[in-house]
Amino acid sequence: MVNFMLTISGDLENLTNLEPQGGVDDPNFSYFFKLKCGRCGELSQKETCVSLNDTVPLPVGKGSTHLIQKCKFCGRDGTVTMIQGKGKPLTQETSQSGKFSPMMLFDCRGYEPVDFVFGTGWKVESLEGTKFENVDLSSGEFAEYDEKGECPVMISNLRATFDVSRHPHHHNREKLRPFFKIQYDTMTKWQERSRGSTQQQQQP
Ligand SMILES: [Zn+2]
Repeated sequence: MVNFMLTISGDLENLTNLEPQGGVDDPNFSYFFKLKCGRCGELSQKETCVSLNDTVPLPVGKGSTHLIQKCKFCGRDGTVTMIQGKGKPLTQETSQSGKFSPMMLFDCRGYEPVDFVFGTGWKVESLEGTKFENVDLSSGEFAEYDEKGECPVMISNLRATFDVSRHPHHHNREKLRPFFKIQYDTMTKWQERSRGSTQQQQQP
């Protein structure tokens, strides 16, 4: 399983704490990006949009995901599932040191996410504490004047990457274990029961 961490950076002039309007796990924030098929390499023509509160049930089993999409070229189905609790706002310190800040983790089956697009619905604050809400970054830039700090504020040179994260559950294994244990026990019991009934049927 390969997970992808969306990380962002940019030049923050007199600004800090850039993140989605409702925080990094904003249930309504929309992430836009393209998908590259893991089988044929076809790149989706338009951006896919996912948000935490928008889920679809998986065709098999009880779980849900945030997107099921069929590759237009080879017909393979892929899914994108968002994993919350991994993001951090982009601070001025991080951006000045040339580093990226993680926003959201994506568990992508059958696809690789590429070409993240900065849209609307961001939040950022000035170093003096003025909050700027519903910031539109779709033009790639944001410029305002901070009355409190009496200085111009600006976001520019926005960059985003999807970093491969091969051990997605390593960091929060402790947190996830109880959940997976229950799932596993239930599954094992179910398998035993269905296996038992199959064997009974096969007996003459
Ligand atoms: Zn394909």
